[in-house]
Amino acid sequence: MGVYVHIPFCAQKCYYCDFHSVVVSDEEDFSEVAGNYLVSLRQEARYYRPLWGERPLRTIFIGGGTPSLLPPRDLAAFVGFLREELPFVSEPEISIEINPHSLTRKGAQALSMVGVNRASLGVQAFQDYLLEAIGRIHRSEQVEGSVAMLREAGIGNINLDLMFGLPSQSSQDWVSTLQSAIALRPTHISCYGLILEGGTPLERWVSEGLVDLPGDDDQAEMFQMACRILLGAGYEHYEISNFCRPGWQCKHNLLYWNNRSFIGLGSGATGYISGFRYKNASDIQRYMESWDKGVPFYEDFAKVSLEQEMDETMMVGMRLLQGINEADFRSRYQVGFGEVYREAIENLLARGLVEYAAGHLRVTRQGLFLENQVSGAFLR
Ligand code: SF4
Repeated sequence: MGVYVHIPFCAQKCYYCDFHSVVVSDEEDFSEVAGNYLVSLRQEARYYRPLWGERPLRTIFIGGGTPSLLPPRDLAAFVGFLREELPFVSEPEISIEINPHSLTRKGAQALSMVGVNRASLGVQAFQDYLLEAIGRIHRSEQVEGSVAMLREAGIGNINLDLMFGLPSQSSQDWVSTLQSAIALRPTHISCYGLILEGGTPLERWVSEGLVDLPGDDDQAEMFQMACRILLGAGYEHYEISNFCRPGWQCKHNLLYWNNRSFIGLGSGATGYISGFRYKNASDIQRYMESWDKGVPFYEDFAKVSLEQEMDETMMVGMRLLQGINEADFRSRYQVGFGEVYREAIENLLARGLVEYAAGHLRVTRQGLFLENQVSGAFLR
């Protein structure tokens, strides 16, 4: 169980992005807004303290947006506050998302001092023309420098986020991006296919015929290349989009894939506490105004029924390549998934999309490419 913190500020908006974030130059006084936002985050953390109780928290994930845009000292102080305020184990996994253009040596050291021990760098590609094509602000040469600064500061658990299916990206570009990433010896690599989100500049340019994207078959081939190259380099493929050196899975994300509870803090963040799921409104000003009054401002708040929880456990659990353990599911719900989802499982088995192995139900290689269909089959 852990804590997710959303920092919704970016230096500029990437052309494909529909995440909740605001561009800092649009804020009249960013340092004042950032300071007030951190105050609201503290209020929110205090609010959940009694509701959460004493269950031990094992992870913090600070995502965004671009958390590394906040002054590192303030961010470090906030992490220190969370560790004092909430019931964390003595050495939690503390991850932070970093844009390679915004990391400094001092910043890395300040974060390391308060226990940040994992960094996720938004690399996406090692070709500057591709970074420009998707509106990323950093340049590929900054990645190596960021990795070096993190290691110097004692943060050796490093993830590199990579993307395939970018405008004009060739197979050779993708192979070279994978090789450059491997050469930096990160503990973890995530590979995401570009998704064309409605309302983004990239979607508009594609619909106007100004930009060409690799097709579905090309994307599937790039995904296969990633699997082959990363496995060949000693990485384990443990979740559809995620690879790691043995033993270096992201503990925080495992929490989601195991459908466990977590506290979500920040505008636009979601949380899952004591059987209730909530989503904070994606509006920074109203988020802060609400916490001035000491109350949350939800966009969604709902009790998750037992039936829904079981469905969600199956849907997210099937993203893990090891699959879902039958005995664990039975001990959690007092019923086996074979009984609850008999028809769905028989159907997926017949189509060769899932298989039983070592007490687990898991996707096959074929099922990996049709994961939406596998997950969707468990929604009652
Ligand atoms: S840095 Fe991340 S959150 Fe910010 S605009 Fe780019 S993709 Fe979106």
